[in-house]
Amino acid sequence: MRLILLGAPGSGKGTQAVLLKAKYGCAHISTGDILRKSLQEETDLSRRVKALMSNGDLVPDDVIIEMVKERLSKDDVTKGFLMDGFPRTVMQAEALDKMLNEIGRPLDAALFINVAENTIVRRLSHRRVCRACGEALNLLDVASETKNCLACSGELYQRDDDSEQVIRKRLQVYRQQTEPVVELYKKKGFLRTVEVQDHYMPEDTFRGVKAALGL
Ligand code: AMP
Repeated sequence: MRLILLGAPGSGKGTQAVLLKAKYGCAHISTGDILRKSLQEETDLSRRVKALMSNGDLVPDDVIIEMVKERLSKDDVTKGFLMDGFPRTVMQAEALDKMLNEIGRPLDAALFINVAENTIVRRLSHRRVCRACGEALNLLDVASETKNCLACSGELYQRDDDSEQVIRKRLQVYRQQTEPVVELYKKKGFLRTVEVQDHYMPEDTFRGVKAALGL
């Protein structure tokens, strides 16, 4: 399975990628996770990237494309891959097409996870991430206000860019830069869509994802 997951920030791409990976064993390529990891090193580039991310802006295409190119050269990509958070611009989509042609691994589909904006803002402001394993957890999905990661008991934190002001900015960037990517895959006939209702839990969306992909 070679798949792109498309959708606004907070639409659940990362969560669905984790579920798909657990069931079908493909590589999960999240550009946001790769960037967050790269910030642990203090360089001029990492300082610039950190400022852009905290502000809800996109990191420049050339930096991201180079990062994905390197990631696609790893062995685990032969098992298939799930792209999460990439491509986010039409230029990235075109570069991806070229890279995949070069390595002879064309896409099977682009899956669009469609969620209403009000739901996204509510969910993102309740999202927490584990400092130890990186797994995301939504406080809305657990019975009590959980203080630790359900997977590894690690400490949970709120991402800088999950504040309401930055969420609004990220949604604006999404509408301007990434919605055209959804249109592009639609025109190419690659797009499958899953409609997510406000009350859905991750497993409800996962059922829709499998149905949309014919799995
Ligand atoms: P995410 O974890 O996918 O929500 O990404 C967090 C942030 O990382 C985004 O708001 C961007 O600042 C940056 N980022 C992640 N992926 C990309 C990408 N494909 N292009 C540009 N910036 C990205």
